[in-house]
Amino acid sequence: MVPSRFLWKRTLLQRGLTAAVFFLAGGITFVPRTAAQAPRPRATAPQASQAPARPKLVVLLVVDQMRGDYVDKFLGQWTGGLKRLVEEGAWFRDAAYPYAATETCVGHATISTGAFPATHGMVANAWWDRKDQKMVTCTADPDPSVKNIGYAGATPQGADTAWRMAVPSFAEELKFQTSGATRIVTFSLKARAAITMAGHKADAATWFDAGAWVTSSLYGTLPFIEEQAKSHPAKADFGKTWSLSLPSAYWYGEKALGAVPPVGWDLTFPHPLRGKSGVGEADPDFYNQWASSPYADTALTELAEKTVDALSLGKAAGTDFLAVSYSTVDYVGHEFGPRSREIQDILVRLDKDLSNLFAHLDAKVGRGNYVVALTADHGVVPVPEDMQRTGADAGLLHLPELQERIEKALEAFRYPKPAVASVSGSDVYFAPSVYDKLQHDPAAMQAVLHAALEQPGVAAVYRAEELRDRPASESPMHRAFAYSYFPGRSGDLFILPKPYWLLDGTPTGMQRSYGTGHGVPYNYDQHVPVLLMGFGIQPGQYFQPITPADIAPTFAALCGITLSSRDGHVLAEALMKPRSFSSPPRTAAAQAAKTNP
Ligand SMILES: [Zn+2]
Repeated sequence: MVPSRFLWKRTLLQRGLTAAVFFLAGGITFVPRTAAQAPRPRATAPQASQAPARPKLVVLLVVDQMRGDYVDKFLGQWTGGLKRLVEEGAWFRDAAYPYAATETCVGHATISTGAFPATHGMVANAWWDRKDQKMVTCTADPDPSVKNIGYAGATPQGADTAWRMAVPSFAEELKFQTSGATRIVTFSLKARAAITMAGHKADAATWFDAGAWVTSSLYGTLPFIEEQAKSHPAKADFGKTWSLSLPSAYWYGEKALGAVPPVGWDLTFPHPLRGKSGVGEADPDFYNQWASSPYADTALTELAEKTVDALSLGKAAGTDFLAVSYSTVDYVGHEFGPRSREIQDILVRLDKDLSNLFAHLDAKVGRGNYVVALTADHGVVPVPEDMQRTGADAGLLHLPELQERIEKALEAFRYPKPAVASVSGSDVYFAPSVYDKLQHDPAAMQAVLHAALEQPGVAAVYRAEELRDRPASESPMHRAFAYSYFPGRSGDLFILPKPYWLLDGTPTGMQRSYGTGHGVPYNYDQHVPVLLMGFGIQPGQYFQPITPADIAPTFAALCGITLSSRDGHVLAEALMKPRSFSSPPRTAAAQAAKTNP
């Protein structure tokens, strides 16, 4: 919110290739788990290669709000982990979400489950709960037996779990299908990222809230996270300064047009981490600054490295799962926009953090023993004031005004006021029974649709009944809203803004508290990087259109498990041909073939 792509038709050729890879991969993954479950390999069997049959560790990295074109633009300035992913990995250059609701909770749930929101049900960061008549966040859990718990003595509010996620994550399927041999650990600054990546149960899912690392009683705490939270708290970064790290080569001006920096910062570097007043102790403004600084990314990286050491990830019988969602690019993007020195610099710093993380994984798990995917949950639109400089049609689609227009339109039809319960991003929710009535009242429905279309910046309005059951459609926009539609949670009407028009929920008369946002089915919000590297991955650049829902099925293929959803596909083209996995069998016949051409 503010705050397409078509699913290509799979050709017979692609299907054949997938089948071939599965068949061949089956040959190398057919390893007995225990002596009791399967017969011992025959003594004459070919020598097993040194590479393991399955990855020892699956690493999922999500960079919140990282647009796909950041890789194209800034690759030349990277020397660390981001560069390594491009050079040693498989780079999918045309990856995009096919659905409309390009938000954090939705994207992370899609990446983690391999399903679209119409399947996994996480339709937004927050939606209008029709039963309770209030907004609920995607992770809010009403179960009174569950509560959030804090590390290092913190006492967080609320209760957050994945109970609203309608399908299991890849990680929990992996753990379930390998009889618990998998350890699942996730980190993010955001609950909706850490939780969706982990799933309904995990060994640890940790996020950041009001200056502290927290989790849910459902997941429980781990001693090494407690130790890290105590020895390296965020407030230890109080007084540090974020300065530009490159001597030159910044693409954009010193001050990002239309930017709204965090309290205590201005529009130019350096950005001090000193809270509101600039002196004293870590206050809420300091923690906002910290979350918008490279120090937050580094803290998440250190937590990931500690996990590898403390749990000896990749050393146990099963395939372990480690996920980190780096939230800072999202905060910086909302504040300064995609065309800012801040975005360019935060990626240079993240590139270094990822370099350290991969070096750590190489040393502790072993190069080639782990597979890593890096992607993003959504992109972002340029700051409207900045876009307007180009002469293009861009602006703010003011949602409170749109809500007012709909109310006014229904006055003539004597609907009870307020007729609209909530407008949240694209979704318009009517008060109880109003939408049922509207569906049998064509004149009133027409008046509502007409009023919505009159609002500056509105391109189209979709009705819930047009989106149910994913109807076949030639319109990419119609299809995008259908992929996002989950009955009971999605709205009654859906607003499609014109390109480069930002959905703005700022109450009338108040100042906008952010620079820009995301959440619509245009390529700037949908196009994200997908990079895979390591175990079983064939390096190279790939140009066929894919979606981030393809990551989980690809992990599943490498790990030899099955996911329930068919929304995503195995990225078979980026899987190594089995011969590259292992050394060729040294049979007598093969030897003979060599010596007798
Ligand atoms: Zn965001």
